[in-house]
Amino acid sequence: MKDHYDVIIVGAGPAGSIAAKTAAEHDLETLLIEKRAEIGNPVRCAEGVGKEGLKQFIKPDKRWIAADVKGARIYSPGGIKIEMSEFGPEVGYVLERKIFDRELAKQAAKAGAEVMVRTRAIALIKEDGFIRGVKAENIGDSFDIQADVVIGADGVESKVGRWAGINTTLKPKDIETCAQFLMTDIDVDSEYCEFYIGNQIAPGGYAWVFPKGKKEANVGLGISGSRTKLHPIDYLKRFVERKYPEGKTIEIIVGGVPVTVPNKTTTNGLMLVGDAARMSDSLTGGGIIHAMKSGKIAAEVASIAVKAGDPSVESLNEYERRWILEIGPTLQKSYKAKELLLKLNDAEWDSLAASIRGINFEELTAFGLLKELALRNPKLLWGLRSLL
Ligand SMILES: Cc1cc2nc3c(=O)[nH]c(=O)nc-3n(C[C@H](O)[C@H](O)[C@H](O)COP(=O)(O)OP(=O)(O)OC[C@H]3O[C@@H](n4cnc5c(N)ncnc54)[C@H](O)[C@@H]3O)c2cc1C
Repeated sequence: MKDHYDVIIVGAGPAGSIAAKTAAEHDLETLLIEKRAEIGNPVRCAEGVGKEGLKQFIKPDKRWIAADVKGARIYSPGGIKIEMSEFGPEVGYVLERKIFDRELAKQAAKAGAEVMVRTRAIALIKEDGFIRGVKAENIGDSFDIQADVVIGADGVESKVGRWAGINTTLKPKDIETCAQFLMTDIDVDSEYCEFYIGNQIAPGGYAWVFPKGKKEANVGLGISGSRTKLHPIDYLKRFVERKYPEGKTIEIIVGGVPVTVPNKTTTNGLMLVGDAARMSDSLTGGGIIHAMKSGKIAAEVASIAVKAGDPSVESLNEYERRWILEIGPTLQKSYKAKELLLKLNDAEWDSLAASIRGINFEELTAFGLLKELALRNPKLLWGLRSLL
């Protein structure tokens, strides 16, 4: 380990590893630190991802693809089924993130980044109003590592932003609390992801079944932090008892998904990316692709700033300008749509589902679905018109 790097990245999730790979490819002296002993483990994710978004970053490899998905089935509270199926080969994968995340970190290392696991950032080094590196801890040892630029990729529980004076606090209504079982010995359709909506199932959220092969699936749900005092695991146990009474659970995870829009993401010497910057999609809860996109942009901007010897906020704001251009409109639209859909009751969901029973969708996305719903239910979904 050196005393000084061009860029230090805190957190080796998809955002951090893509940032590290990109920075190293731009010839920056790059250090990626990860607090966990094993990159990618434990997984806090249902592992669903769109093929098109993913292919911008990595060539698909069956070692980290658990299922090749051709469509989705959505069930309303009263059980009305909406099926959205394949129009072409470009639907989605369910990943094996334990292998996927590790592969991304390997690619960063291969590009020239140094990687340190079991190394936790515990504070930032600040001088003259600039972030100049991180204080870190590795198996009982603590030390300072200087850097021209720090990229905070430390996920939903990010502390880096707060240490840098950026307000990343989430209101209860802007966080989905989730629980998930990896279940085995259950009957699942290995080509379809399933979603279940309803206030009895998952108030202010939804339940999912994402297949990982023929007899295995991530079965989970997220509920809005502002809706109930119950823990998501209570809802999940209820869901699973009804749906997979014979299934066996071989892994349990709990975690949060920020469902908001990012606020500030830069300061002197620092950028926030991925979940640390609150870049998950508020409508779907998906954050992997946005994490990778923001990690790549941040590293490209870091490269320009380091080479120009100017890591000031003015210089790093180029990162903010670019992510707003690329993913800002989707984040905004999804947030507004989420706010509107949160107001619907179960009877209204059933009536929406009934209105599109059996139709063919032009666009196999959450917004494609909303477009159809808004067309057929202009009164109920009046607020969506301006978004679609
Ligand atoms: C239950 C659940 C289901 C989800 N399902 C999906 C889905 O199906 N599809 C999808 O696209 N998204 C999903 N998401 C969201 C997705 O998991 C995240 O958006 C994505 O992982 C964000 O990537 P990231 O790199 O920003 O953060 P993370 O993947 O969270 O990585 C952050 C890393 O930083 C490390 N770290 C934290 N603090 C420190 C520190 N102080 N020092 C060093 N390292 C640190 C962590 O250990 C971690 O490895 C889900 C989330 C949850 C909770």
